[in-house]
Amino acid sequence: MKINLVERDEEIPLCPHCKKRLDNIWFRELKGDMGKRIVYFCSSCRAVLSISHRKGLTMGL
Ligand SMILES: [Zn+2]
Repeated sequence: MKINLVERDEEIPLCPHCKKRLDNIWFRELKGDMGKRIVYFCSSCRAVLSISHRKGLTMGL
């Protein structure tokens, strides 16, 4: 079964926790022995959406 990836610039994603529009996604940098991480979270309810596992770079989500 194929799943299509469709770009939707006109749609704003919803937070999976509070269901509000993610007009802004906030992030914070975490630093530790394992390197740098970026934690992305909802600006309405502060629920964590994603944590970057890339070292150093902050590209993408
Ligand atoms: Zn939220």
